[in-house]
Amino acid sequence: MTLHVPFDNSYGRLPDRFFSRLAPTPVAKPGLIEVNDRLAAELGLDAEALRSPEGVSALAGNAVPEGADPLAQVYAGHQFGGWNPQLGDGRAILLGEVIDANGIRRDLQLKGAGPTPYSRRGDGRAWLGPVLREYIVSEAMHALGIPTTRALAAMTTGEPVIRNGALPGAVLTRVATSHIRVGTFQYFAARQDLEAIEALTDYVIARHYPEAGDALGLLEAVIARQARLVARWMGVGFIHGVMNTDNSSVAGETIDYGPCAFMDAYHPGKVFSSIDQYGRYAYAKQPEIAVWNMAQLATAILPLIDPDQNTAVEKATEAVHRFPDIYQDTWIEVFGAKLGLADTSRDDVPLIEGLLGAMARQGADFTRTFRGLTDDTARAEFAEPQAFDAWAEGWQARRPDDWQARAAAANPAVIPRNHRVEQAISAAVAGDYAPFRTLNAALSTPFELSAGHAHLAFVPAPEEEVRQTFCGT
Ligand code: AMP
Ligand code: MG
Repeated sequence: MTLHVPFDNSYGRLPDRFFSRLAPTPVAKPGLIEVNDRLAAELGLDAEALRSPEGVSALAGNAVPEGADPLAQVYAGHQFGGWNPQLGDGRAILLGEVIDANGIRRDLQLKGAGPTPYSRRGDGRAWLGPVLREYIVSEAMHALGIPTTRALAAMTTGEPVIRNGALPGAVLTRVATSHIRVGTFQYFAARQDLEAIEALTDYVIARHYPEAGDALGLLEAVIARQARLVARWMGVGFIHGVMNTDNSSVAGETIDYGPCAFMDAYHPGKVFSSIDQYGRYAYAKQPEIAVWNMAQLATAILPLIDPDQNTAVEKATEAVHRFPDIYQDTWIEVFGAKLGLADTSRDDVPLIEGLLGAMARQGADFTRTFRGLTDDTARAEFAEPQAFDAWAEGWQARRPDDWQARAAAANPAVIPRNHRVEQAISAAVAGDYAPFRTLNAALSTPFELSAGHAHLAFVPAPEEEVRQTFCGT
């Protein structure tokens, strides 16, 4: 069986200073963990060929498939608010692009593929834990209908990776509509490389926002997508964990799953990331941080918005200030649907916030409470169920006849709970991939829970609870 990847590469045609061309570093002993059949089909790839020795070798970085143009992209970024002028793919290599079944250009990237000129002190590798976490969570996000990068495959390297001790190495094949970040624009802006910003702007417009027309149109379009994306995260209790500008995709996909997590008990101030000491990227802070990130993008492309700086600032500010309205409208739509409401408006905000407030005070589980609205089990999630009953009176008066079907379609029964992700990783490290596969299977249809997967909807027992997640390094 021969592997044929119909590459159609465009990023490599940008000026040389956008990337460094280099091949992945081969690994000792490539091994297959998983190939995503449905995504492979969507990309026009033969999953069996990806599973063949030739495919496994390519996906572990040991052979460069024909037509690939492997390169590491350069970018910069604000990390936890602090400026870092030089980042880039430090452990990822873009193999190239393919046009998918819907005519959309998608990047194929190997994450954990060895050092690059942007690795700084890193080893360019990933261990099994973050690779499986990104696989599980990104695919779950997709099944929930939320824009995200995808996971095409996971391979083991047969090499240890040294973190806190030796851990098994792995490589993830990530698929994205592109890997262009706010930080990509910032990199060139910081160097006052106007020519590069122009080339990048043209490229992003042509690739992602053909209707945008110009730099201002692009900014408005990115802001709208980002606002809708973050509102959708909020609707599933997702905390990204590292919303740095280098982890913010201009295509509006969720990208760079590091210390991310879905909440169990609802609390707006919840933080999981072990490195987020001050709660900068707490659940409820996410919209505000996204606005900040969008302001950084606006700053980077300012000279293209208008030749007159004051006019440019005025127009960019206006665009950034539109974020809260777009966010709020989407948020109401998302949470309105979760309550089974049909035509939502700003008047529904008190009802939605009434429930969230009670949930926070009572330590109610986010996913189970919303799902429980459809089958009368929500009240049991409250330490004092009367708190739920008091809120539910107003809800019952407001909801339409078909509320139940609406709510069932908007509230997943199963999300990648942290303790289950951790258990899948621990088992895999010990050589057992069954929990990883079971979890993926359940998460592929999050709105239906089969009897065999019932345990995946339970909250963690106190001893199973995960309070911190660690960066994907
Ligand atoms: P992240 O926090 O995962 O978004 O990573 C921030 C930056 O550090 C990115 O430019 C990564 O490519 C780089 N990086 C993270 N881990 C490694 C590693 N093990 N080796 C080299 N570079 C890394
Ligand atoms: Mg990153």
